[in-house]
Amino acid sequence: MDDSKHNLNIKPRNMTEIDFTACPECDLLLNPAAPDVGDKAHCPRCGYLLQRPRKQSVERTFALSIAGLILMFPANLMPLVGIKILGNTKDGTLWSGVVALFEEHLWGVAVLVFLSSIVFPLLNIILSLLISAHLYFNKPNRYLASWMRWLQHMDEWAMLEVYMLGIIVACVKLASTSELKFGFGLYAFVALLIIAGMLATSLDKVLFWRQIGQLRKEK
Ligand SMILES: [Zn+2]
Repeated sequence: MDDSKHNLNIKPRNMTEIDFTACPECDLLLNPAAPDVGDKAHCPRCGYLLQRPRKQSVERTFALSIAGLILMFPANLMPLVGIKILGNTKDGTLWSGVVALFEEHLWGVAVLVFLSSIVFPLLNIILSLLISAHLYFNKPNRYLASWMRWLQHMDEWAMLEVYMLGIIVACVKLASTSELKFGFGLYAFVALLIIAGMLATSLDKVLFWRQIGQLRKEK
């Protein structure tokens, strides 16, 4: 354990002069290296993948968040599925699902579905767009760091894929008793799901934080 002994020798004064980060796996204090695109930085003690800079992270995030924002409208407002029972057709949108839950007095579930399938994904995309646009155009903003922090918390709450699973289960169950028609909203929703997944992988947090820091210094 000679490296931990070495870490204890670092005086607090030095900690502020050089930025140290702890390995998320084993807490080894490291002076963060900045590997080139295509390279990987591993923790020397436990081998945890610390960094793998992604190509054109800012540009990709910027483009994907615009696409996601556009898709948000049809995915939320257009019919996901149309159900035909005894001659009556009823279209279901994401929003009407939330309203139906409210009408059934399932307040908790309604709020959870509303937040995790509409509010958080929307906020996630808006924050990604705001941050990547500022970085792309090199525009400093004093809220950049706060936006980035919110975005990192939002990750845990946007659960589009859980909602997708619910739609699939409902469709399978209803398919035997009624006629189902898939609406444009569903295709938009699937596309949004793919975009959200791509957005999560394109956004390089380390690189974003570094650029935010640079912008702050330039100001
Ligand atoms: Zn480690």
